[in-house]
Amino acid sequence: MKRQIIHIDADKCNGCGLCVPDCPEGAIQMINGRARLISDLYCDGLGACIGTCPVGAITIEEREAAPYNEALVMENIINS
Ligand code: SF4
Repeated sequence: MKRQIIHIDADKCNGCGLCVPDCPEGAIQMINGRARLISDLYCDGLGACIGTCPVGAITIEEREAAPYNEALVMENIINS
């Protein structure tokens, strides 16, 4: 399905990590010093993380993506 989802520009990202705690769904993790969207399933596309990024590396795009899976997110939160 086509839907709204975050996009992280790896060239702009400075690795500050501020966006990670701002995503309660756990969709963003730091990998090799850069923020990465770890799974489409965890991103609700609402963009709570966007305002946090000091360099404007996070935007919303519309693309083919798996649907947001709230049950999986809850499971991830409980297990973390
Ligand atoms: S807040 Fe922006 S610059 Fe910092 S880690 Fe996240 S995407 Fe990268």
